Amino acid sequence: MTTDIKLLPRILDLTPLELTDWVVAHGLPKFRAGQLRQWLFRRRATSFEQMSDLPKLMREQLATEFRLFTAEVTTHQVAEDRTEKLLLQLDDGQQIECVLMREPDRVTVCISTQVGCAMGCVFCASGMLGLKRNLSAGEIIEEVLRLQTLLGEDERITNIVVMGIGEPLANLPSLMTALDAFSSPESLGLGARHITVSTVGLPVKIREFARNGKQYNLAISLHAPNDSLRDKLVPVNTNIGVDAILAAADDYFAETGRRVTFEYVLLAKVNDEPQHARQLASLLRGRCAHVNLIPMNGVSLLPYEEPAAPRTQQFVDILEAAGIPATVRKRKGADIDAACGQLRLKHAESL
Ligand code: SAH
Repeated sequence: MTTDIKLLPRILDLTPLELTDWVVAHGLPKFRAGQLRQWLFRRRATSFEQMSDLPKLMREQLATEFRLFTAEVTTHQVAEDRTEKLLLQLDDGQQIECVLMREPDRVTVCISTQVGCAMGCVFCASGMLGLKRNLSAGEIIEEVLRLQTLLGEDERITNIVVMGIGEPLANLPSLMTALDAFSSPESLGLGARHITVSTVGLPVKIREFARNGKQYNLAISLHAPNDSLRDKLVPVNTNIGVDAILAAADDYFAETGRRVTFEYVLLAKVNDEPQHARQLASLLRGRCAHVNLIPMNGVSLLPYEEPAAPRTQQFVDILEAAGIPATVRKRKGADIDAACGQLRLKHAESL
């Protein structure tokens, strides 16, 4: 019977319109679709049976026709700073990671969009095993809803960052469906300004993403201030180039009015020289931009390390002196391999 169950569609893959169509096709009033979405997104349901204000017959029909959660939690880790990480096994045996981070004034979840990654950034754990496949919209949504079930009744998700495994803009249709659910008032209801998508920098896709009419934040993983260095660190750059990325970022800002963030992972003795900071500053001068410096998270088998703290501070100081706002990303959940791709890689290494 298990194979039969696996063939059932995922309810979370359905768009709001498709949910309404299903409700109407089953002779039910339209408002039942709204109630169903409330249960899925707000009331943290983990089964159809729990949806106590839906008619029993409707709940039974839902359970025969759909699956709700379709992944299994392989590992659930809780760090000293209460960061929580799930390693999820999808129904085809593939694994992905998602993370919940708590701060006094916010709860942020970080989610994956692909199994593995094809971009090949040399310092990143996620791409080391290549790209296996895209996640469906429902699989992306399930990450957020699973993490939501870990929250206390008085806690709620305030921010979503799409900075887990994979290149989100290489899976744009599923990403857009999932983001619609996160930002729609009838579903999760998070403001678009509380949602950030991080991309390696695919200009055509950035422009397509800008045209969705929502004010999502865009973060671009630049990591180097010139093409010769970026070609080495971010191999897809050889087909793109820093200039084309900056032009796409300008268009994103023009279209959405949102200040673009440039991410820059600091790798000791590779891209952390004062001259790199100066070159980065001159690239971004006059642009409405912000630099987020990420200290390299150690990955086993990889030779890169984070610079010492004074070196990092020097980089920040050079940017700020040139009028470019810069912040250093806080590290969360370091004791549980919370950075993207690390846990999945560890599991694969131990197989
Ligand atoms: N594909 C997207 C999402 C990647 S993960 C992108 O390229 O932006 C989010 C950020 O973490 C990216 O900037 C990525 O380059 C960075 N990152 C990857 N591996 C890292 C590591 N070992 N240490 C620090 N940052 C890393």
